[in-house]
Amino acid sequence: MNYIEHIGIAVKDIKKSNELYASLLGTDPYKMEEVLSEHVMTSFFKTGNNKIELLEATNEQSPIAKFIEKKGEGIHHIAFAVDDIQSEMDRLKQNGFQLLQEKPKRGADNKLVCFIHPKSSNGVLIELCQSIKDE
Ligand code: ZN
Repeated sequence: MNYIEHIGIAVKDIKKSNELYASLLGTDPYKMEEVLSEHVMTSFFKTGNNKIELLEATNEQSPIAKFIEKKGEGIHHIAFAVDDIQSEMDRLKQNGFQLLQEKPKRGADNKLVCFIHPKSSNGVLIELCQSIKDE
């Protein structure tokens, strides 16, 4: 795996949190994007080489809605950049990690993503992400 690409933070009200994080980081979000398959609205901030992703549930079946119900707002996942997501997935599977998808899927911010079950990684949801280049 390469560097930490972003940290995902679950929020209840993304508009309010956009203002809060803009004030905290001294920069506005550079994009907002809805991910229909995950039932989330996201926004992204650049912080040096890394990013902060805010996630708000768009309905109650959203994983973010369930997360906030259980744990409240806060850090939801850590995302690592990878060059070849499929080979990383194969490697982690061999090492006994429980992947939440069989195949990489389309995530926000022009990425192929796969999540690792937090049970496998000391309670931390891990995201692998590979940039989609050709488009
Ligand atoms: Zn993410």
